[in-house]
Amino acid sequence: MKFGSIGMMAAAGALLAAAPASAQQARNVILFLGDAGGIPTLNAAGIMAHDRPQSLYIQSMPDIALSDTSSLNNWVTDSAAGMTAIITGHKTNNGMLSVLPDANGANVPVKSFLEYAEQRGLSTGVVTNMPIWDATPAATFAHVPSRKDKDQIFRQMLAPRFGDGVDVLIGKGRSDAEASFAKDGVTAEQAFAKAGYRFGADPATVEGKGRAAVLRDEDYAPIPAVEATLRQLSRNPKGYFLMVEWDMHTDDPQKGLRHAAEMDDMVRRISAIAGKDTLILFTADHSFGLRMNSGKRGAPMAQQYAEAAAKPGSTIATNPVISVVDTHTGEEVLAAASGPGANRVHGFLPNTRLFDVMMAAMGWKKDK
Ligand SMILES: [Zn+2]
Repeated sequence: MKFGSIGMMAAAGALLAAAPASAQQARNVILFLGDAGGIPTLNAAGIMAHDRPQSLYIQSMPDIALSDTSSLNNWVTDSAAGMTAIITGHKTNNGMLSVLPDANGANVPVKSFLEYAEQRGLSTGVVTNMPIWDATPAATFAHVPSRKDKDQIFRQMLAPRFGDGVDVLIGKGRSDAEASFAKDGVTAEQAFAKAGYRFGADPATVEGKGRAAVLRDEDYAPIPAVEATLRQLSRNPKGYFLMVEWDMHTDDPQKGLRHAAEMDDMVRRISAIAGKDTLILFTADHSFGLRMNSGKRGAPMAQQYAEAAAKPGSTIATNPVISVVDTHTGEEVLAAASGPGANRVHGFLPNTRLFDVMMAAMGWKKDK
């Protein structure tokens, strides 16, 4: 931010006097992305976890909207086009990561919110319970026409177009990284070290001097990892952008719903410790074919589901309590927000608007 704009804000604040400047402008943005976390999944996850309706923290966030998730070429998006829309403000074709197809068949990179933050000297973080090269995290820093191009995604992770690249990376896909960098004759650790990263498998590694990458093949405890990331990113007085993806696809319904409750716990905890100058957004890239079909109040829902699932011949598609058709679906998803700029999240809106909401919260203008 230039000093001139601070002066202007102070003047505007003095004139309006109703809200302090800090309430209007964010210093930090945290985007929580529930992958496949549509409203049916949030509803079922809350009831499974707490046996109460609307018991998720996310369901208490003050500003909410319903976000269209269609992609440029399909009414039902994949995660690549879904995250591209949210993080760049542009809808693209399914399978594409932060590039747009042009009339000549070329692919034009579009700048992500993370890249705007890097360019301005903020710290940035990407945390996921999926492989770090997977579509949702990759859309924040890579620009490739195919989400399957793992080698290119790893290469771009270490060759940022703006700033010095993502400051904190935590995700799975360690063996994928080893396989990709082996093609260049180096280990993942050597490749990351050369790019200036401390490298490890323990999320606690992220705290320390300079940038850090944590790659592993196993699950990890979400809250300590995100708290460590937040402490690390908060050292930058200019602010930070953090994207946390938690996969909640319900092709395995119990696992998916547990992941949804896990992310909710994380949003609750992080909302309590992030400063008031932090815009916090939760949304999903797309919904999923889960339906709650029955369930008695007064008995644990998780038990009712498990008993129905244990019956001979029961499948996830035919479970009478919660059934799942294993596919992404096209209905709107929840966008929920708190903090400076959250009040721009209301009504029915396109997923690309969430990019505008983040930019406006920071007082940033889009490149021409
Ligand atoms: Zn997805």
